[in-house]
Formats: sequence, C-alpha cells, structure tokens
Amino acid sequence: MQKYIDQLNEAQRAPVLKKDGPMIIIAGAGSGKTRVLTIRIAYLMHQGVDAFNILSLTFTNKAAREMKHRISDIVGASEAKNLWMGTFHSIFARILRAESDHLGYPSNFTIYDSQDSARLISSIIKEMQLDRDIYKPKQILGRISSYKNSLITVKAYFNNPELVEADAMAKRPRLGEIYQQYVERCFKAGAMDFDDLLLKTNELLTRFPEVLAKYQNRFRYILVDEYQDTNHSQYLIVRALSDKFQNICVVGDDAQSIYAFRGANINNILNFQKDYEGVIMFRLEQNYRSTRNIVEAANTVMEHNKTKLDKVVWTANEFGPRIKVHRSLTDAEEGRFVASTIFEQKMQNQLHNGSFAILYRTNAQSRAMEDALRKRDIPYRIYGGLSFYQRKEIKDVLCYLRLVLNPKDEEALIRVINYPARGIGDTTVEKLTIAANHYKRSIWEVMVNIDKIDLKLNTGTKNKLKDFVTMVQSFQVIDQNHDAFYVTDHVAKKTGLVQELKKDATPEGMAKIQNIEELLNGLKDFIEGQKEIDGARGALSEFMEDVALATDLDKDTNDDDRVALMTIHLAKGLEFPHVFVVGMEEDLFPSAMSMSTRSELEEERRLFYVALTRAEHQAYLTYAQSRYRWGKLTDSEPSRFIEDIAGEYLEYLTPSETNYRYKSPIDGDIFGDVDKSKLRLNKPVGGTPPVHVTSNQPSPDLNIRKLKPVSGNAPSSGNSNLFDSKLTVGNIVMHERFGKGEVINLEGVGPDKKAEIKFEVGGIKKLLLRFAKLDVV
Ligand code: ATP
Ligand code: MG
Repeated sequence: MQKYIDQLNEAQRAPVLKKDGPMIIIAGAGSGKTRVLTIRIAYLMHQGVDAFNILSLTFTNKAAREMKHRISDIVGASEAKNLWMGTFHSIFARILRAESDHLGYPSNFTIYDSQDSARLISSIIKEMQLDRDIYKPKQILGRISSYKNSLITVKAYFNNPELVEADAMAKRPRLGEIYQQYVERCFKAGAMDFDDLLLKTNELLTRFPEVLAKYQNRFRYILVDEYQDTNHSQYLIVRALSDKFQNICVVGDDAQSIYAFRGANINNILNFQKDYEGVIMFRLEQNYRSTRNIVEAANTVMEHNKTKLDKVVWTANEFGPRIKVHRSLTDAEEGRFVASTIFEQKMQNQLHNGSFAILYRTNAQSRAMEDALRKRDIPYRIYGGLSFYQRKEIKDVLCYLRLVLNPKDEEALIRVINYPARGIGDTTVEKLTIAANHYKRSIWEVMVNIDKIDLKLNTGTKNKLKDFVTMVQSFQVIDQNHDAFYVTDHVAKKTGLVQELKKDATPEGMAKIQNIEELLNGLKDFIEGQKEIDGARGALSEFMEDVALATDLDKDTNDDDRVALMTIHLAKGLEFPHVFVVGMEEDLFPSAMSMSTRSELEEERRLFYVALTRAEHQAYLTYAQSRYRWGKLTDSEPSRFIEDIAGEYLEYLTPSETNYRYKSPIDGDIFGDVDKSKLRLNKPVGGTPPVHVTSNQPSPDLNIRKLKPVSGNAPSSGNSNLFDSKLTVGNIVMHERFGKGEVINLEGVGPDKKAEIKFEVGGIKKLLLRFAKLDVV
C-alpha cells in the first residue's frame, strides 16, 4: 500500500491520508483527481474499513470498473468485489430493486430507455389528439425529464401555478396532463425511466426514514467523482446518505462542468462548504497528463470565462509541440486531413490506432470522419451513436426478454406482439390499449383475462392472443431454471425471430443475424463474469440490468485497437496521446443553440476546455469553410475558441485567414453588434484584410465595427507546401527528427505525395510530404 501512497505528490497524498469528515477536492483537468479517489478507497480498506461500507459514484460504469481493477491490484480482488461502485443510475437501480415494494413497484421493474420513453410520449400525444407540431414528443420528454430532475412530481407541477402558466404561455397547456398520463402509464407497465431512478430514490429516502437509516449505516464512506456534473436530484441523494457519518469526499473541476443543459448545477460545488460542517478543501495543481503547451493553452482558454473558481494548473512535463490548427474547404476534406494525419503519425512514430481520438460537438459530425477513415483502412469505433443494444434486431430480442421478466412492460409488448407477424393487427392492439386504460390495468392483464372481457374480438384473434400469452409464460418457466444465455437462445428461436431474419439474404440481413450471434457471445462472457460475483448466477434479470444501463463506453473491452470517435461530452475523464477536435466553427462549436446568453457560451467554452485537456501529447483543431448542415451547404467561420488560445501555443498548418477579428458582445466586448450576413469578407477578396466575425447578433449599423489584430499568430505554412516543390529521387534531405537521408522513391500527387526515404539512422521510412519537416541539403 505504502508504495502507492509514495507515488502521489504531497497535495494528492493529503486527502488520501485524511480518513474522516467531509472534504472536497477542486482541481483542474489531469491533476490526478480520479487517481486520488482510487488510492483513497484502497487506503480506507487498508485501514480496516469494510468494502461493503464504501460507496463510490462515477461518471461511467467503465470508470467504475477501471477503478475497481486498480483497487483489486492493491488490496486483492476478493475484497474489492464487495465495493459499491458505479454510476448513480446503476447503484440506485440496484437499491430500488431491493426496496421496490415500498414504492409499489415490482422488483423486476423494467428500465425504459429513451426510445421507449419517446414512443410512449408519442402515443399519449396521439391518443389525446394533440397537434404534434406543437407538442413535439422529444421536447415534451425533455421538459418532463427536467421536472423530474428538479423533483417536480406531477402533483408538485399542478400545485405550482408558475409552471402551469409557463407551459400555457408556450402554447402547451396540456403538458401537465401528458406528464400525468406518462407517469401513470409507466407505473402501470412496471417501468421506470432513467430520471425515475433518481427521483424514486429520493422518494424512497424521504418517505421511509428506516430505509434511509439502513443505507446511511451501510455507506459510511461516500466518494463522488465528477461532482461538478451532479444534478439536483443526485445532489440530494448524496446529501441524505452522507448526513449521518459525514464521511464524504467529492472531487470535481468547475471548469469542466458541461451538463448544465441537463440540470447539472455548479452550485453543488460552490455550496458544498455550506452543506457540511468543517469541510476541508484540497487543491491539486500539477497536471500529469499533458504537455506544457497544452496545459498552458487550456489555461488561456479559461481566462475568457467570468464564472470560475481561481485555480492554478501547471505541469512539469515537456513543452511538447504546439497545437496544430488546420483549415479545409469542406468537411470531407477535413476528414481526409484527419485520416491522413493519423496514417502518417502511425507510420512515422509507430503508434497504435488507440492513441488517437476524434472529438466533435454533435454526433452528426462523425459521418465525414468515418468515410475518410474507411478509405484509409483505419479501424475506428464510434461511441455514443446508436448503441448496439438499440439496433432494431437486438432490441426486438431484448423486448421479448423484457416481457419474460415483466410482462406488464407495455413498450416491449407493443413492439413484439405482432413481430414476427402472427396475425395480431393494429386494431386488436388498439382495442387492448383502450381496455387497459379503461380498467387501469396493463395490456398484459387484459390479455390474460381475454375471455372475461368483451372486446368484440373473433375467436381466431382471441386464440392468437392466448398463444402469445402461453409462449411468454413458457419462457418464464425456462427462466426459472436456466441462465441468461440459454433463455435468450431459446427465445430467439422459439419466437421465430431468427427464422424471420434468415428470410432476408441481403448483406444487411446477414449482418442482423451476426448481431444476434454477437449478443449471444456477449452473454457467454457475461455469465463467466458473473461467476466472480457473490450470489449471482448469470440469470436473465442480472443481464438485463446490465443492458438497461449500459453506455457505449462500457462495452469498450480495449482488446482491439481502434481510433476513438465520440462527442466531447462523452470524453470527460478520458485521455489520449493525440486528440483531434474537429468542426471548430462558429454555430457548430460554439453551438448556434448555445450562444444567446453568457452562461450558455461559458458552458460551451468549458466544453472546449474539456476537449483540449484530453490530449496528452498533441492536439489538433480543425475547421472547414463549408459543410453540409441540414442538407444544405453552409458557409462557416472559424470558431472563436481557436482565438481564445494565445497565439504562441498554436501552429497554423494552413495559412490563417483570421488575422483580424471582432470580439462578440457576449464576450464582454465593446465593439457592439455586427451583422454577419453583410460581412462575408473572410473569403479571400483581393487585398482586403480578412475578417472573422464572432457575433451572430444582427445589427442595423455596420459602421461600429472595428478591427482588432490578433497577436502573434502570423500564418505559418511551415514546410507544408513542399509537395509542390521539385523533390526528386536521389535528393539528400534533412528531417527534424530522423536526421539525414536519401529519397529513394516518390509516389502520389499533390497533398497525397509521399517520399520513401532511407535515413542514415532508423532505416527506410515513408513520409507524407505535406507534413514531413524536410529540408533538401
Ligand atoms: P480529469 O479532470 O480529466 O478527470 P483527473 O484530475 O481525474 O483528470 P487523472 O485521470 O486521475 O486526472 O490523472 C491524469 C493522468 O495523470 C493519469 O494518467 C494518471 O495516471 C496520471 N497521474 C496522476 N497523478 C500522478 C502522479 N502523482 N504521478 C504520475 N502520474 C500521475
Ligand atoms: Mg478524472
């Protein structure tokens, strides 16, 4: 144990050695916050604290698993496996299952994913005959979600005239009714959505003092990573559970708070000291992750935000290369630049694919990157798109499995009752739904009692419904005595799903069968893993719990080597040697939807800070001058965030056009508003100085504009135009890292031109001339 403590610096050691009491660690990116939490837990156990008494809350299940592994290495696996460690959602789903009877839920309640929730909202809107253009299901769901995260129940909603009025003003007077219907339907179906997992935990802990006392006594030590992104609901849970022993240790970085849009509340950090008595605050200042160039550049970015805690971040690491900035004409070209840079870097520096990450603001941006990577045969993985478990064929299987565990699950039932087709048509389902609503029962219960209710169904239809009920019941019997693999295999075959897919001989059809095979393979692994856990038997219910809360990051097994593609939000807490932040354009990043207030813009800037600080060695910022957005080719201008970085930390790979710029009024500027549409001057126009406009605020007056030179980022084309030059076979060249060599072969044209060079030291290397730092001698 001592060895691990010795590896920490003094500032990191202090919170590890302090065993009891409330404490908060506020520190910048890469300063070892997560590492401190990990070592702290191991040290608590070393001092005799029982693993069962420690609760640790992380941002992803993957982070939890990694921490557990490290702790196993230190204190031994048999102890570490008893730790309560995971995301808020997974930990509290587990507690809710154990305590479900208090809330009137079955312990096998289903967890609705966002697709299920959206579909249910849609059908409620339809049944209420409301206008879908006004009552947009996604928006309604977002509203309901934010109510739940602020603990505004249906009752609280109707008791709050301000909320009711606000929705009426927004031309959605029936939102409250939809909310009510939604909650009732979920309850009837024995289902909770993601937000319920927190809301119901709060309900459980406030309404049942004996339950609260039980978990307060169990979790004597509570630790929370990424505390800056907890929402109100999560905050209340943590506060309630830690109230008795007050052994609470939270770590966070206000500069990385990026979930305000989902209700995360930065005040949770700011108010922590008020909530507990005798809080000790620790600060970590040394960054171990990134080069000095990156750390200092990121610090200059944060200087532009007004709302922040004062913090120092420095590093003893090498200075490293500057952040490379690249402009391209289109997003496709941007993709090609990223792919060829990765290709080159891999070749020149013997790097793995896994050393690279491509980060973007929105998922839609992945496509251009994917195309380019595929053309270069560079393996990649996208995180956070449509997850494996949401693919149609997989979700169909999962919905049958959900019915096995909870046949009241309405969304699952509606999805598969007639798939594969078994003659139960829409009209029948409608009749069942109406009856279910009428009797305030689930559709399943109506089906089970079909002979007792007069739904005007013919005998043939009734028999089909009975057959369906019998089939699901037979699966339930099998589930009693078999593991999840056996049940799933049986269900996939007996429902006719596999046969149905086999009818489709196209490559897409075959891929679907393969996905089902992959699901079964995954199940085998899962069952193996479960054997290590006390009391688990690899049952279907255990597997479904895992699936319901799985995020894409959790499936990452690290065993194949791929470039990682993901949104910046998802990259929180992670690190990669090389990071590309792509789509650095106004209206995209910062997002057009997040520029109307200072606080929104500051959140976007924190997001940029998160992106930049993922890089260990080299960061790239790339932007395109035009890209397809919403099906239209749109002109774009470089993101203001590029210029938030002091010029000395940047290297422009393409001549910069952004020599002059405005600062936007939101950025606290004096220059006033500018009408961007009148200022399309940043395309090369004769000798006019190019203009970068960072405001999207319309203004009637163009004359107030003033130009401001940007210091120090004179365009540097480096040697990047060497591919135009007359390099020939036989030339002797000097390379900044490899030294002297002879050109032995040339291939490709223009920006793809490559030279094969035999270096005196290091042998033959193939270099892309666009990037190679070569001088002919
Ligand atoms: P983020 O804010 O991005 O979540 P963090 O503060 O949680 O970052 P960690 O991920 O814990 O930082 O640490 C960043 C990197 O620095 C990791 O690779 C970690 O192993 C390494 N590191 C942390 N502390 C030390 C140390 N004392 N000595 C050597 N390496 C360290
Ligand atoms: Mg961390």
